[in-house]
Order: sequence, then structure tokens, then C-alpha cells
Amino acid sequence: MILKLIIFAIVGLLIYKFFGGKFPKMGRTADEKQLEDNTLVECAKCSTYVTVKESMLMNGEYYCSSKCREK
Ligand SMILES: [Zn+2]
Repeated sequence: MILKLIIFAIVGLLIYKFFGGKFPKMGRTADEKQLEDNTLVECAKCSTYVTVKESMLMNGEYYCSSKCREK
């Protein structure tokens, strides 16, 4: 019983090391986020294009400034 746990621990460690100490899914998420930050989106109010990072998201729509966001 305890031997099984040790084998599981070793296998788990090997899988962890195989992925270079971090899971590839996490790395990909960071890349996607960076790409998303630089993506241009259109302001729902005045149609100005701003990056996602600069824009303001409200109710699933992007706005270029708080002025546009407030109607
Ligand atoms: Zn705007």
C-alpha cells in the first residue's frame, strides 16, 4: 500500500520534471493574455480603436474611456 504511494509520487515528480517544472497550460495562458492585451478593440460608443489593456470592459463591450462607458 505504502509502496504504491511512493511509486505514484515518483511518477508524479517525473511528469512534473518532464514539463520543465511548470505546466504548459499555464505558460500558454500567459502568452494568450499578453496577446489579448495588445489586441485592438473598437469602442462601443465612439468606434475608436484602443488596445484591450487601455480599454474598459463593461457588459461584454469595450469602451475607450470612462466617459464613453458612462453613456
Ligand atoms: Zn469611446
